[in-house]
This record gives sequence, structure tokens and C-alpha cells, in this order.
Amino acid sequence: MITFFSGGTGTPKLLRGMQKVMDRHEISVIVNTAEDIWISGNHLSPDVDTVMYLFAGILNTDTWWGVRNDTFTTHNEITRLGIDEFIAIGDMDRAVHVARADMMRNGMRLTNATKVLCDRFGVRENVLPMTDTEVTTQIETDIGLIHFQEYWIRAKGKIEIRNVVRSFTEPPVVTEEGLAAIEASDAVVIGPSNPITSILPILSCEGMKNALKDKFVIAVSPFIGNEPISGPAGALMKASGFEPSSAGTIKCYEGLVDLFVQDIRDPVEVSKAVRFDTLMTDEDKSIALAREIFRQVQAH
Ligand code: GDP
Repeated sequence: MITFFSGGTGTPKLLRGMQKVMDRHEISVIVNTAEDIWISGNHLSPDVDTVMYLFAGILNTDTWWGVRNDTFTTHNEITRLGIDEFIAIGDMDRAVHVARADMMRNGMRLTNATKVLCDRFGVRENVLPMTDTEVTTQIETDIGLIHFQEYWIRAKGKIEIRNVVRSFTEPPVVTEEGLAAIEASDAVVIGPSNPITSILPILSCEGMKNALKDKFVIAVSPFIGNEPISGPAGALMKASGFEPSSAGTIKCYEGLVDLFVQDIRDPVEVSKAVRFDTLMTDEDKSIALAREIFRQVQAH
């Protein structure tokens, strides 16, 4: 078994390859939930949804969010009625948010709601939210603290970041299921996700660093040079006091990583690094990188 730590784009690209390389029942994924948001009365968990849709074979892999060929009838009508639904939610996607919100309002843990949904979708992998309580990444800007989704979707990332803050009423704790998955794994792979908004929230869950102490941990860089492959990781790294690069990424994970994977094109030198082609522009590239990482785990 391998446990992966995932956000909603870079690591899912790796998982797309992994499901072709290893037994799908041997894949566990601990997924960031600090970008979750209640919207139009329903519960959106963007990274959990992306991972679940990927494994269900219905993910829109042009955007890496939402369901392929989804329609937007409800979103268009809600908007016409004057509701400020600033995230375009497809109809099938919304059905999942409605179902999850219903389960959670009835007292079900996010972990169990995710399991119910994954079972309905015939997902064979073990998809685990990082924690069961609410935690939110907020961006400190000139107009005050805003939800990460307000920054990235509404403002399209075009707003100066002063700081990145994680807020919660109860400190987030790693779930029993997450601990059991790590315990049963030969290795933990921190995928090429945004270090600040996807990976640090997972690592910051109480009990996580301790669970990783004696594990073989591989981390894959989401940077080539000073630029992430996509998304706002560069600005977020700078605002959090890290260099936006592979060097900054490993610093972010300091002490936890046994093997670091960098892209063959990356000009930045990092100790303990191996180099592969990490640019997963299509499924074959995802499979090739997955194969290399699987080999590293087997060789350990
Ligand atoms: P989010 O939840 O949508 O922000 O997605 P993630 O945190 O999972 O992934 C975002 C990160 O994925 C960005 O920092 C990108 O640099 C990285 N990324 C996207 N595609 C690739 C790729 O093909 N290779 C690598 N190495 N990183 C990638």
C-alpha cells in the first residue's frame, strides 16, 4: 500500500498514472480539505471531489475539476435569480454537494460521507479527507481576510497576498482512518501539489508529523525553476516566507522527506533529489512518472 497526500490538480495527475501501475485497492489518498466551502447551502470539497471523480472515471481532465460533460442549468438559473454563486458548479457535481451536505447535517463525519459517495461511484481506492472538522485557508489581503476560493476563483488570484492563514474553531486532527492508512503503507508520497494550500494543511493536522516519523516519505516538486507548473503556488510561497522553487518546497516539508523528486529541467539543485520527467501533460506521462515512483518504493 502507498498513501498519497493530495490537493486537486498536481497529485491527481500522478494518481491517474498510479491507478494503472499498482493495484487500485493498494492506493490510499489523504486529501486536503482546507479549501472546502459551503456554497448555495451545499458542501463543496474541491480536492476530495477531484480525487473521487478521477477514480470514478468521470473527472473533467481538461480543467481538473468537476464532472466531464456536466451541464450548468441550475448554476445559470441560480445566477439569474440573483444569487452570488461565484463558483460555476455543474449539475452532477452539485448533486454530490447536496448529498454530502445532507449527510453532514445529519451528523455524519466527512470521512464517512466520502466513503458513502465513493462506494456509490464504484471507487476502489481509499479516499480519506485529511480531517473531519472544518479548517479553512484564508488569504490576508488589503481588503481583509478572504476565503481561498474568494481569492482564487472570484478575484482570479489578481490580488496582493500579505499572508496565508488557516482558521478553525477546533484544531484539526488527523483521522483514525488516515493514521491506519499510513501505518499500513510501505511509503507515503507527497504529490506535486501546492505546498502552502494543499500539503501544509495536511501536514499540520495534529498527529500527522508523528505518523510520518518512521515512514519512507517521497515528495514530488510542483516547481520547475521559480515557477509552479500551474496555479498560484509561487505567490503563496513568497507570502509564507518560502522561496518559490523546489528548494523552498523541501524546506516547507523539512525533516519529513527521505527522497525528493525534481523535474529533469529544474535548474535548482536540491540534496537527496532524484530527477524524472514530472511534466504530466498526458496520461502516458503520468503513467511513466508513476512507474518511476513505484520503483523507488519497491527498491526501498
Ligand atoms: P489545487 O488543489 O487545484 O491547487 O491543486 P494541487 O495543490 O493538487 O496542485 C497544484 C500544483 O500542481 C501547482 O503548484 C502546480 O505547479 C502543480 N502541477 C500541476 N501539474 C503538474 C505536473 O504535470 N507536474 C508537476 N510536477 N506539478 C504539477
